[in-house]
Amino acid sequence: MVVIMKKRHRDGSGRRVSVGALALAALLSAGPVAGAAAEPYGGSIIDAHGHIGGSFDADTMARVTAANGVRAMILMARYYPGPEGKRDLPGDDGMALDLAARHPGRFIPLVGMQQPLLTGAGKWTQPDGAVKALLQSTDNKLASGRFRGIGEVIVRHFAYSSGPHAEIDHPIYSAFMKEISRLAQKYDLPVVVHMEGAPNLVADFGRLMAENAKVVYVWAHNCGRSQAPVIRDMLIRHPNLRCDLAGMINLAPRGYGYGTGWPRMEAYTALMEVDGTFLPEMQAVYEDFSDRFVIGTDIAHAPVMNDRSYQLRIGRFRELLGTLTPETAKRLAETNAVRIFRLDR
Ligand SMILES: [Zn+2]
Repeated sequence: MVVIMKKRHRDGSGRRVSVGALALAALLSAGPVAGAAAEPYGGSIIDAHGHIGGSFDADTMARVTAANGVRAMILMARYYPGPEGKRDLPGDDGMALDLAARHPGRFIPLVGMQQPLLTGAGKWTQPDGAVKALLQSTDNKLASGRFRGIGEVIVRHFAYSSGPHAEIDHPIYSAFMKEISRLAQKYDLPVVVHMEGAPNLVADFGRLMAENAKVVYVWAHNCGRSQAPVIRDMLIRHPNLRCDLAGMINLAPRGYGYGTGWPRMEAYTALMEVDGTFLPEMQAVYEDFSDRFVIGTDIAHAPVMNDRSYQLRIGRFRELLGTLTPETAKRLAETNAVRIFRLDR
């Protein structure tokens, strides 16, 4: 085979591939290169994974969603302090409610679970007084009817900053998660879970889902950045599993980019896309399970909540959605989120 170019780069699987070989393969293939000629998705979007903290500017959030054709954003308060201190103060559910009240229908609060008081595996197996109080307040908040779910529950998180809430490893099959599941079932609302897909945790998540078959779980970040066969297997086994693609674009505005493999990769993690094209094995999962996925920008820190960063993320999602069948694109962009978060209730 003639190698046209000597330049080499890494593909999504980490194998070294020759750009020349890829170009030649594309020339020899019968059909068009997947995604190359596709129009970006132009329809309405629901950003199913958004955050708010104390330093977020409400006007900016309203402006960037409107400017990018995002009709609604699922909003999860981040109670953790941010890595940039006073520029990124902690938030709370009251802030999410205020924003929702100012822009009815646009911002949809969940009961926030990025809570310093939850850090520590022992608190999950044996909830202490503070955790019990959080469960009670969650019950009360859901009863108010002003929240559309619970999340983001931080089970397994890779550190990208220092401090006690950076690297997190909590048990998903635990007393705390059983209580969260009980509340989700009581109010018929979903739970958003951040859990990098370590094999032992995936097995435990399966037990939790099987025992709470009426609860819808949204496993964030392309099912914990799992490999396509793991995602497919879990979707087959657990009809109550949904996944968001939040933050999984392979771009890193200001350095934050889950979809680039940041802050680190493990043997069990994978990318979703390269250069605006889904990896083929991922695209096949999205088409085969088109009613199970939603998208999201996942801007969790105030310095990144700005016009450029939000536009980059939504623009890349529009590009990616454009490579799917129109029916699948619309589901991922909008209609699945309506159903999962009960937006038509
Ligand atoms: Zn997350």
